[in-house]
Amino acid sequence: MLLSSSLEQKDKELIESQLKLYASRYESEGLPALIKEVEAGHKESLYVRVAGPENNTLFQNVPLDWGDFDPKQLETMPVKGDWQWSHVLGAVEQEELIPDPDRLEVLSATLPDGARLQVGKTTEARKEVLEYFQQTSALVLVAVLAIGLAGGALLAHRSLRPVRELTGAIRSVRETGKLTARVPTRQTGDELDELAGQFNVLLETIESLVNRMRSALDNIAHELRTPMTRLRGSAEMALRSNPDPQAYRQALTDCLEEAEQALTMLNALMDVAEAEAGAMKLEMEEVELSALIGSAVGLYEHVAEEKGVAIEITLPERIVLRADQRRLRQAVANLLDNAVKYTPAGGRIEIGAHPEPQGIQILVKDTGIGIPAEELPNIWDRLYRGEAGRSQRGLGLGLSLVRAVVQAHKGSVEAHSEPGQGSQFVIHLPVASTG
Ligand code: ADP
Repeated sequence: MLLSSSLEQKDKELIESQLKLYASRYESEGLPALIKEVEAGHKESLYVRVAGPENNTLFQNVPLDWGDFDPKQLETMPVKGDWQWSHVLGAVEQEELIPDPDRLEVLSATLPDGARLQVGKTTEARKEVLEYFQQTSALVLVAVLAIGLAGGALLAHRSLRPVRELTGAIRSVRETGKLTARVPTRQTGDELDELAGQFNVLLETIESLVNRMRSALDNIAHELRTPMTRLRGSAEMALRSNPDPQAYRQALTDCLEEAEQALTMLNALMDVAEAEAGAMKLEMEEVELSALIGSAVGLYEHVAEEKGVAIEITLPERIVLRADQRRLRQAVANLLDNAVKYTPAGGRIEIGAHPEPQGIQILVKDTGIGIPAEELPNIWDRLYRGEAGRSQRGLGLGLSLVRAVVQAHKGSVEAHSEPGQGSQFVIHLPVASTG
């Protein structure tokens, strides 16, 4: 539309300027000079007509290829005003109703001597330019559309690749039941890459949890089998032997001990579960710490001695606090149990307690194998066993129970360790009264 109106404007400007030129020629030098001017200039493209006051044609220039138009129409056209735009249709266009027919656009002017000057131009050339432009634009548009569509499809295909890979990984996990699948990441830092990275982290976490659960189940089965096998062995032996109340009594005592061991382990499992759910019930009473530590050490003295590990107790003063005696002893005993387990012959274990500004501190220190830095954050997790732990008896419940008990007392516990040098566990309990 813009091009069409600008072309039309240009044509009208040309007609106007030529009309002015011819008019001034006519006025100053007469008709022959005007005819000369026409023949020298726009003879081929402009229609020019000079008519007398009666509208009788004095001169007419009709370009050769204007067969369609009948200039007679112009002769009969009524004269209105000095300057007047009008148009004439070609013979064919007059008969057929074409939406935008070719026209002869004519500007007429009445000159001072009453003569009439008409200059005109067809719209045909303009239409040709427009049609050519339309065809070219349509071609360019189709090409641009095709390139755009192909490019868009390619881009969409490429940018959705991470989503396809993610779907593939999910499908693989679902179909194989294995959590080893990973989505490749490109380090582009975009949202999809971030999603793939997070998905991989999620898979890793689930995989390690499932592995831990599996090995915990194996451990539980293994740990339960020993007391159960011994229990069955004692009962079988007693039944096979000659009836003897004394032997029966001994067998029953053995059975009881084995059942006790299995029960202790199951209780520990349930205790940790209960404590982690925040439901551990404490039976608070006045506890004398040196007695509590003494009785815990008493449990491991023998084992430590047999192993060649020394236990030293440092208790500078009598400390009394309100706590759940049984649970707290269990926590201290678990720390001692680990210290003995993970300290080779010739090592030393130090256990002590002393007041600190916010309460009291219980410390268990050993010169054992230590804990690698990467394992340290996990040792408190339920059923977690370090690399070293795997070669020892145990379920990975000891430290989770320690933490659960201490947290139930509103305290905290921390571990420091240097592989090859030893480990140190410190329990901080907030409520304490010394006396
Ligand atoms: P476990 O039954 O394996 O001893 P714990 O919960 O008591 O379970 O301890 C978790 C892990 O922490 C152990 O498997 C071991 O690797 C590490 N650990 C705990 N105490 C010590 C220690 N005193 N010295 C070295 N490693 C320790």
